[in-house]
Amino acid sequence: MSCLLRAAAIICFGVTACQSSAPTNQEHQLQHEYKECVLAVTNVNVIPMTDNLVISGQTVLFGQSEIIEISKKGTGAVACDRIVDGKNRYLMPGLNDLHTHVENTAFQQGFGLPTETLPYDILLTPYLVNSITGIRILSGSPDLLAYRESVGHSDRAPHLVVASPMLSATPPVLPEPVTRIVDDPSAARAAIRDYAEAGYDFIKIRRNLSLPVYEAVIEEAHLVGMHVDGHVTQAAAGLDALLSSGQVGFAHLDEFALRISDELAIENLAEMLVECGCYVSTAIGVMPNIAEQIKNYDSLVAREEMQVMHPLLTNAFWLKPNNPYLREGAPVEFFDDLAQKTSDLVRPLYDAGVPLLAGSDAINPMIVPGYGLLDELDLLVEAGLSPFEALRTATAIPAKSVPGFEQSGFLEKGRKSNAVLLASNPLADLAVLGAPDAVILDGSYLDQQTLKGRLNEAIKTVKQP
Ligand SMILES: [Zn+2]
Repeated sequence: MSCLLRAAAIICFGVTACQSSAPTNQEHQLQHEYKECVLAVTNVNVIPMTDNLVISGQTVLFGQSEIIEISKKGTGAVACDRIVDGKNRYLMPGLNDLHTHVENTAFQQGFGLPTETLPYDILLTPYLVNSITGIRILSGSPDLLAYRESVGHSDRAPHLVVASPMLSATPPVLPEPVTRIVDDPSAARAAIRDYAEAGYDFIKIRRNLSLPVYEAVIEEAHLVGMHVDGHVTQAAAGLDALLSSGQVGFAHLDEFALRISDELAIENLAEMLVECGCYVSTAIGVMPNIAEQIKNYDSLVAREEMQVMHPLLTNAFWLKPNNPYLREGAPVEFFDDLAQKTSDLVRPLYDAGVPLLAGSDAINPMIVPGYGLLDELDLLVEAGLSPFEALRTATAIPAKSVPGFEQSGFLEKGRKSNAVLLASNPLADLAVLGAPDAVILDGSYLDQQTLKGRLNEAIKTVKQP
């Protein structure tokens, strides 16, 4: 129960203890002024993500939905339900993974798995324990929308932005209903109207749409006010035409790396992407990950983080003999080479101002939800970004560029009450993001013990036969 409900002044020690005594007049006034304050973190080093800086000695007041105040004086803390001492610790906005997939019922049906519903609370836990408070799912399903509705504002799941099922031509790379086949413009328009009505946030496309279908998709999506994101459509007549088509989002940086040639310099690509106002999910972990599967499959399988994966899914398309990358016997040199070319795009595109979005492409084979985003951030640093710049791709840049993330990405008054409390400075070393002291989700304080408990619960649940 909240200390405020007990109508008493609050003296709080550390993270939990509250003791009551009769309130003074000034405290009464503060309680009124900050009546919605559910959590205060005092005397903490704030990383606002507005710039590459740390502001020490701050008190941050969280409401259930938004940040109420950040200040040096911190007088409002006394009126909050809970006070946490942030001394020597760092508070930053929660991370976002802008390109993920979740094993929803569409996946289960598509891959012929038994369709008992996997609990989303469990499937999404790996994000929370890795400092991620928002994800964008690039292949939705009706049960995912229903789950989001049921969660509302709570501490059960990260903020969810959900794409439509993927629109694809015949033959689809992934089976229905993960994809919906649209072989003519009228079918495509009907699909988009369905998805707008169902409540999906944007439209996801695969690369094999015919040109008339692709154009119909873009036009209809604009009519219903939805962004189109996804693959580079093969039928488009050149990159120029593609980037002026009205498609706003692109899901893989490597698909642009493939286009770089004597005729197309990286600078030209950067210019075109800036010109069209397009954002690109990095997903630069995908290619090195495929190469690693070919070279060091056993060590990837042996990773500790694999224990959060449901065996239904890993057996269906991660492990031998069903892993598509191993089955197809692709030459490792191709993936190594493309990994390098993709990595080479990061610095120049970032410098040109192209909105690069950190995206893991979890549950692409061997990319583990949550953990995959932290790997992606490390790869962005290897590709030449500073830790601050890499963190911007998961915070500030999506906040400025992508519908559904406007309220996140910065630690400042009026933003969503999502943040992470860290034992050391992530701008010096990103590794601390893999073990946050606490995650703040819609104002709820999930401490290390709670996060650990949830992770153990998730591991236990997925192990059940
Ligand atoms: Zn994907």
